[in-house]
Amino acid sequence: MRKFETSKQFAIDMDNKDPLRSFKERFYVKPGTIYMDGNSLGLCSRDAERYLLEALENWKTHGIDVWSHPDVNYFLYQDKLGELTAPLINAKPSEVTICTNTTINIHKALATFYRPTKERYKIIVDDLNFPTDRYAVDSQVKLHGYSVEDAVRVVRSRDGKNIFEDDMIEAMTDDVCLILLPSVLYRSSYLVDMKKIADAARAKGIYVGFDLSHSIGSVPHDFSRIQPDFAVWCSYKYLNGGPGAIAGLYINEKHFKLGPGLAGWHGNKKETQFDLNQTFEPSEYAGAWQTGTQPIFSMAPIEGSLRMFAEAGLENIRAKSLNITAYLMYLIDEKLRKYGFSYGNPTDDERRGGHVALEHDDAIRINKALKGRGVVPDFRYPNVIRLAPIAFYVSYEDVFNLVDIIIDIMETKEYEKYDGNRGTVA
Ligand SMILES: *Cc1c(COP(=O)(O)O)cnc(C)c1O
Repeated sequence: MRKFETSKQFAIDMDNKDPLRSFKERFYVKPGTIYMDGNSLGLCSRDAERYLLEALENWKTHGIDVWSHPDVNYFLYQDKLGELTAPLINAKPSEVTICTNTTINIHKALATFYRPTKERYKIIVDDLNFPTDRYAVDSQVKLHGYSVEDAVRVVRSRDGKNIFEDDMIEAMTDDVCLILLPSVLYRSSYLVDMKKIADAARAKGIYVGFDLSHSIGSVPHDFSRIQPDFAVWCSYKYLNGGPGAIAGLYINEKHFKLGPGLAGWHGNKKETQFDLNQTFEPSEYAGAWQTGTQPIFSMAPIEGSLRMFAEAGLENIRAKSLNITAYLMYLIDEKLRKYGFSYGNPTDDERRGGHVALEHDDAIRINKALKGRGVVPDFRYPNVIRLAPIAFYVSYEDVFNLVDIIIDIMETKEYEKYDGNRGTVA
């Protein structure tokens, strides 16, 4: 059991004991603000900036030789970044590559793993995932000539917040060939029991893939144990790779022989890629799922960021994240319940991702009032304010101050000055 106290001094003491404390000054945190939205767009670090500027210098200095100069060697940069990412999910470096965006990586994975037959053609999804995953799945079944109603089995959440693994497993009937689920739900922060899902799917010959967008860089995953067939993720949330940073793709090594369903010249064997043959010779690792030329400037910041993860240790990041989210929940219980607040995220460490889902009937207006006070929260319709105390750059004192600001907004009824209409990006 963790023991917290309500005083500001307690928060300051916790910061003094925080082993990750020094990382905050390596991030550009705007003075006077409390940034609680790192689960939507992680902040820029000096480390990420340095690698991006270096990439520009490399271009200036080397021209075409950026691809092959031994100091730069951007031709194989995706492999280097894959190697730096692999420890975050305990995968082999050869199983991880960095390419395009999450949505396209789902398409790429489905182009390999969705192989419907007359008897087995259904895909299981949940009804709480980020919508782009659904759009990708729906369009893939249509490409194969099926109707969404027939081929996409949506397993509804019992409570509208969490995924119930047993319901997913029950839906794994003989006509199902693939299941795609998120690792952490973007709204409620529920952390799916991926091992349980993967074991059940494997036993039934169903391919299983996970979207790690809301967990990578926040929750360690042990893929050597879970053994999913594929996974995708974005790099601009907890990985702090920058807006539109290139995304990630994991292909379990036992499937390298399947090869990419959507092929391109950068997926060709590196030794023969520049023979420019008309026949595709796929690489024998996740790099085969590369397509066109990699966008170096969308990759370089990730290198700086990934090196910070290696330096800090993901276990330490997770330990702080669990503690600081528990602290925030404690303060909500102690100080905010009387104003009508509650939280919709799991309280159990085993099932909680990296953010707290603060709930209130007036969440739209309160969220706007928070922005007016220099807090950067994240609103999700209709009643959730997501608050992500990112281990790298949010302090316990920030969390204390955040709760103080909320109390003030409620006491003064400041939020009543704001309208209840929602904006376009939220
Ligand atoms: C953020 C997120 C995405 C983003 O997809 P992009 O194609 O990279 O824009 C996809 N899926 C989930 C679950 C996400 O949380």
